[in-house]
Amino acid sequence: MWLLVVVVCFLVWAVGTYWYLFGKPSPFSVESVRPPGPLELDQKKRHKILKQGFRKEKVPENLDAIVIGSGIGGMTAAATLAKLGKRVLVLEQHDQAGGCCHTFTEKGFEFDIGLHYIGQLHENSLFKIVMDQITEGQVQFVELDKHFDTIVIGTGEKSRKYTIYSGKTEMEEHLKEQFPDDTKAVEEFFKIMKMSARKTHLLAALKLIPQWVALFLLKSGIANLYSSIFRLVGTNATAVADSLTSNKDLHIIFYYLFYGKSCMTILTVVNYEWFEEWKDTPVRKRGDDYLAYKMRFANNLFDWACSQYPKLRDKLVYQEVSTPLSNTHYLGRYLGAMYSAEHNLERFQAEAIARNRCDTPVKNLFISGQDVFSCGIAGALHGGLLCASTVLKHIVYIDLLMLKKKLKKKKARETAEQVKKLL
Ligand SMILES: Cc1cc2nc3c(=O)[nH]c(=O)nc-3n(C[C@H](O)[C@H](O)[C@H](O)COP(=O)(O)OP(=O)(O)OC[C@H]3O[C@@H](n4cnc5c(N)ncnc54)[C@H](O)[C@@H]3O)c2cc1C
Repeated sequence: MWLLVVVVCFLVWAVGTYWYLFGKPSPFSVESVRPPGPLELDQKKRHKILKQGFRKEKVPENLDAIVIGSGIGGMTAAATLAKLGKRVLVLEQHDQAGGCCHTFTEKGFEFDIGLHYIGQLHENSLFKIVMDQITEGQVQFVELDKHFDTIVIGTGEKSRKYTIYSGKTEMEEHLKEQFPDDTKAVEEFFKIMKMSARKTHLLAALKLIPQWVALFLLKSGIANLYSSIFRLVGTNATAVADSLTSNKDLHIIFYYLFYGKSCMTILTVVNYEWFEEWKDTPVRKRGDDYLAYKMRFANNLFDWACSQYPKLRDKLVYQEVSTPLSNTHYLGRYLGAMYSAEHNLERFQAEAIARNRCDTPVKNLFISGQDVFSCGIAGALHGGLLCASTVLKHIVYIDLLMLKKKLKKKKARETAEQVKKLL
């Protein structure tokens, strides 16, 4: 009798797993990626797609989902749902789609907003696969130069310059060359970074398994026994850097913010309150006092940049300055925040990660993007995938991992055929 119960349970589990893995249509497939089309540079043609004004009559009937906000997070969720045949409407408060990924052109110069460079886009990485799937292979990335960044610490005669190389091995080796007395610290730092990158999926899993299971695993300490990522995620960069070395320059390099690429972008941190008195003025018509005020910041920053790179001064043709009020207007940010919900340490405690989910107490209202996982193009994209998984009640990561395996096999087959031909 007991044997029969066990056999029945096993069969139910096996059939259920098979159905979950193979019985449902997958949003992702090899076929959905096509060769990239020509790059469209005609602004009018681009605007036709990106700047579609809202009209009630244009809203299709029988929608399955409405996505509010067209950043990478919302678009990833929308594309994933649409790939399964769902009828999706994306609404955007700005006059063009893209969120932090949109660009704008002024006086012939194209400015990008929130995509300067990203990592993990190597062949067959999960991130590259998702990017290809949601864009049907139409977004192409340019590989970073070997020396892609320079960090300058201090000013005048006391200033020190460090160069940063792309590629995880090259970056580590090059830092070791520049900090010969701290090679152990650099090695340890990269070990932590690599482990964190490899284990990030465990943090996503906290949002996909039932919440009570996630909290049980965390509170009982089982999660910590399984991986140190659950403890590390709630540790601040300063504490990690302090534990590795007392070299202050290396500390700065371990937690620097990096921005560069087509136009020069200079970023600094300011308080919303410094600009608040203009919050009710119309955008682009906030008045001469606002213009003069924000230009003071711009000029100081530009002077600073010229102190490092004096040849820049003669090259300045056009300057555009955005403030927290711009973030509020163009990106719908609360109090002009750069990354939406605050990225403080509390938010990244493992328990907070498990509690901050895509579903909300409001029926059929789900959250995606950087608010649900982390800032950054990759972080917001995962927010979109988590959201689609929650809406569909289907973990789309399983489909992606199976696709990754398929692509690896395909590549191996192609390489073998090429070798055969050569021989
Ligand atoms: C200056 C800057 C530089 C950055 N550089 C990089 C980088 O180099 N690499 C990297 O990986 N990341 C970078 N980031 C971060 C990255 O761009 C963001 O974390 C990510 O794009 C956020 O995506 P999202 O979809 O969550 O949000 P968003 O892209 O902000 O999209 C949200 C969208 O929702 C819309 N919206 C808001 N409220 C409403 C509403 N009520 N109705 C309709 N629409 C609404 C907004 O207008 C916006 O279009 C940068 C960010 C900034 C600001």
